[in-house]
Amino acid sequence: MPWYKKLHWQIIIGLVLGLIYGVIAASAGWGQFTSNWVAPFGTIFLNLLQLIAVPLILSSLIVGVASLGDLEQLSRIGGKTLGIYVLTTTLALVIGLVLVNTLQPGRTVPQEMRTQLEQTYQGDIEESMEVAEQAEGRGPLQPLVDMVPSNFFESASDNGNMLQVVFVAIFLGGVLLLLPGKKAEPLLTVFDSLFEAIIKAVEVIMLTAPVGVFGLLADAITSIAAGSPTDLASLLGALGFYCVTVVIGLAIMVFVVYPIFMRLFTSISVPDYFRAIAPAQLVAFSTSSSGATLPVTMEVSEKNLGVSEQVSSFVLPLGATVNMDGTALYQAVSAVFIAQVLGISLAFTQQLNIVLIAVLASIGTAAVPSAGIVMLVVILESIGVPSAGLALILGVDRPLDMLRTTNNVTGDTMVASVVAATENQLNFPTDGVSVATTDVQGSVREEPAR
Ligand code: ASP
Repeated sequence: MPWYKKLHWQIIIGLVLGLIYGVIAASAGWGQFTSNWVAPFGTIFLNLLQLIAVPLILSSLIVGVASLGDLEQLSRIGGKTLGIYVLTTTLALVIGLVLVNTLQPGRTVPQEMRTQLEQTYQGDIEESMEVAEQAEGRGPLQPLVDMVPSNFFESASDNGNMLQVVFVAIFLGGVLLLLPGKKAEPLLTVFDSLFEAIIKAVEVIMLTAPVGVFGLLADAITSIAAGSPTDLASLLGALGFYCVTVVIGLAIMVFVVYPIFMRLFTSISVPDYFRAIAPAQLVAFSTSSSGATLPVTMEVSEKNLGVSEQVSSFVLPLGATVNMDGTALYQAVSAVFIAQVLGISLAFTQQLNIVLIAVLASIGTAAVPSAGIVMLVVILESIGVPSAGLALILGVDRPLDMLRTTNNVTGDTMVASVVAATENQLNFPTDGVSVATTDVQGSVREEPAR
């Protein structure tokens, strides 16, 4: 197949063209035209992915848990998965803290810029603070209570409530394990069939990815620049060092930490690994949502990396909602950066506190765009840094969100591969990576390895 017919190349082309168009549109003042005629294609693509996120999490986790066979296997794989999630998130936090303390990006922001930023983003901060305050003024066990919905349809009606959907799915899947096989089978067949239908839907939706990604990127660039590329340039100048710190941290996670895990636990070579997951990374980058990317993450993990359906349908939906290494790293760097700019020095114990809170905050962060910055308010408040400092970084949140989401999704695919390898359920296709998402007609889906 010529290279330009491969889906990930088509997505890259859409992405680059979207970027170029965005820059031209921003400097030519085509903001209105772009939001009327270009952005909707991105929104449609994003909506389609979000549309299937809830039924996908539900069906894949129910089938995934029930197919584990017994509660012993569920707790073994579940324990392993959560263990690696917490380990990598802690690693990300430590890397972020070391970087921000050594590079000290907060020292480079001039005083006038600080005041200007605080004034510009006052409205946005109040909104974020309101949301965070609601989350804060509650008891210590509230996050646990929030996970357990009293009405499933209410949870399923809001993509920000994925953790509740995850809970219901694992609970129902576990209960099905306790039923005699004959009783459980009809319901499982229904969910299995729903799961297959959704995976097919992903293949169809992904055909529109290059156009969708173009629309998303064009819109993101024009709205970041907001008609004035010079503002963007001066903002990037002042906050450049902060962005570079976050980017170095994310790059260490993606290009050093994950490949080490892959080398240690799997037989997949690092270039093969990156080639296999490229479509998911590109979709994560352009949608800024691990939840919306989940269908693609599952597709590439199963088809390109060879993760068994049993492992992928359990590890990945869970990972998309709770495993956010990029978000945690970003939150750690941002919290300390804001403190540095405001001239507040954070003691070692306060920084340790960031690790603890950020592990929980990244679990609680919804897999949707900009969710990380809302949870950052909670972290700032709990270490005694005024959350108005958020103003300093709001302007550059979108590009960082794109990058941290890419990191989050990459982390999920790594954990899925490692868990599958240790369970003897990783069969990397020897004929190389087949980005099967391009092959819609007549593609035969392999039977799950149960
Ligand atoms: N957008 C991120 C994600 O979906 C969450 C965040 O804002 O950090 O993974």
